[in-house]
Amino acid sequence: MAKVYFLIGGNLGNREQILQNTLNALNKDVGKVLKLSALYETEPWGFEHEQSFLNQVVMIETDLMPENVLNRTQKIEKDLGRIRKKNRYSERTIDIDILLYDDLIVNTERLEIPHPRMAERMFALAPLAEVAPEFIHPVNGKTLLEMKNSCPDTSGVSIFKA
Ligand code: AMP
Repeated sequence: MAKVYFLIGGNLGNREQILQNTLNALNKDVGKVLKLSALYETEPWGFEHEQSFLNQVVMIETDLMPENVLNRTQKIEKDLGRIRKKNRYSERTIDIDILLYDDLIVNTERLEIPHPRMAERMFALAPLAEVAPEFIHPVNGKTLLEMKNSCPDTSGVSIFKA
């Protein structure tokens, strides 16, 4: 069984309910949910939008290979009504990112693990370091807490619900 860390979040609709629906779907279609971070309220990153995001990190145990995890999470995103926009950073109902899959490194056209942009994003590192502070990033050798403490991102990230 592999332990996989996901970042889930969105800024449209009933954000808490959509996160709950996402957790239920992950638990059913990907694997058992073992750990959850608090809910974090975070500023939109890379674009302007008046509605902030709610983000959460979830750790799941699964016997699915990484590509199959992505197939399932993309289906969940679609089912929960995400409208894909042309621009990379846009408002969205739900986004599911695979941050870490054990200490595996994956670099294919569809999938990069560890998620290549998490080092520069406090909205990912804050909940991730809460759940797994001592986990060592397989590429840079730092713990997640060290990565959070050295992250240059100053955008607003606060606990919404512990
Ligand atoms: P986004 O629009 O930011 O959700 O990006 C989705 C795209 O990122 C999809 O085409 C995925 O194939 C790709 N992708 C690459 N690495 C990952 C990852 N670790 N987790 C989720 N999506 C990924």
